[in-house]
Amino acid sequence: MPTSRTPSTSGFEQLLREAALRVTRPRLAVLTAVYGHPHADTDAIIDLVRGELSDVSRQAIYDVLRALTNAGLVRRIQPAGSVARYESRVGDNHHHVVCRTCGTIADADCAVGETPCLTASDDHGFAIDEAEVIYWGLCPDCATISSRSSASSAPSSAVS
Ligand SMILES: [Zn+2]
Ligand SMILES: [Zn+2]
Repeated sequence: MPTSRTPSTSGFEQLLREAALRVTRPRLAVLTAVYGHPHADTDAIIDLVRGELSDVSRQAIYDVLRALTNAGLVRRIQPAGSVARYESRVGDNHHHVVCRTCGTIADADCAVGETPCLTASDDHGFAIDEAEVIYWGLCPDCATISSRSSASSAPSSAVS
């Protein structure tokens, strides 16, 4: 599993203060959910947060996710054909592998370098700060299934 250092509640409070965000219970609950469930989608985060704080509206959680993303405390990723997902591993420009069949996402470190894949051969004058790479394929579970029943190759579009 990913190497996630999950801060304590006071650690989350400090993260919020360092980002000049007011410490609120919904923000703490969303941070806890994202740290505990890397690459969770919005619905999953809403379920987790409302399990803790049942009086928080969906819209409030959307707003918190946006604020945390804008502040750089969480990273939003959205592979083509997938809903937005969130993770706490920010700042290292890592990439993702996505299963074409079930939509499972895993982290993929870059092969080399400190700020990998940031060196464009021609930056067209842009100040580039991020490169996004998605490796598409089949996860081990789906690869096993498809090799067992290779006759029927119709992809199921099950997205959790
Ligand atoms: Zn899969
Ligand atoms: Zn990731």
